[in-house]
Amino acid sequence: MWTASVLTLFPEMFPGPLGASLAGKALDAGLWSLDAVSIRDFATDKHRTVDDTPAGGGPGMVMRADVLAAAIDGTRTPGDDRPAYYLSPRGTPLTQSLARELAAGPGILLLCGRFEGIDERVIEGRNLQELSLGDFVLSGGEIAAMAVIDAAVRLLPGVMGAEASGAEESFEQGLLEYPHYTRPQEWEGHVIPEVLTSGNHAKIAAWRREQAERITRERRPDLSVKRNQTER
Ligand code: SAH
Repeated sequence: MWTASVLTLFPEMFPGPLGASLAGKALDAGLWSLDAVSIRDFATDKHRTVDDTPAGGGPGMVMRADVLAAAIDGTRTPGDDRPAYYLSPRGTPLTQSLARELAAGPGILLLCGRFEGIDERVIEGRNLQELSLGDFVLSGGEIAAMAVIDAAVRLLPGVMGAEASGAEESFEQGLLEYPHYTRPQEWEGHVIPEVLTSGNHAKIAAWRREQAERITRERRPDLSVKRNQTER
């Protein structure tokens, strides 16, 4: 079964939002599993210390390499070939294509940092890749880990209701999604675009495509450029 192991100082944060709605129902149904590992359980001194002051000075605390390595080694059993990531603002940004790749694999191991971050030696010593949620700084890796897991889990077989929903979503074709409407037909004087109630499926598809292209061009010219390059 697709399994996410999350190494964290705050295991009580999980499943949190992953326990509700789509991901939560799938979790209850046994379509994936979640293993929140307490890093503190791997501390060895009597105060169960997980961090220490930064070498070279400066503010804050750094999570210790020995404790983190013990937590990783205690979680990754021999033969476990799940990719292992350290959530970090320095990492490669999470994308929909990575979410697809992760969903197609055996699961994921995620290490959540806190404080100033983790001892650099663990990243190489345990072969961690660095993965970022975006160009901003969170106070810990947990929310980023939840985002990564959510993006992958909704793509697992049987998790999303309609088989097709997913293929047409934002980013799947290098496009942001077209606008959605539902009843009431008229709301505060605004009506649903006529084409959508015409019953003409070819026209509807063409309209949606046009809208998706327009929105992508206006809001994310970077995506438009990438798409044009791959289509050429
Ligand atoms: N001093 C670090 C930030 C530490 S924030 C720096 O300047 O890069 C504390 C923890 O939050 C990090 O160890 C990381 O696990 C997590 N985190 C913060 N921002 C993140 C982001 N954009 N993506 C993923 N994880 C993030």
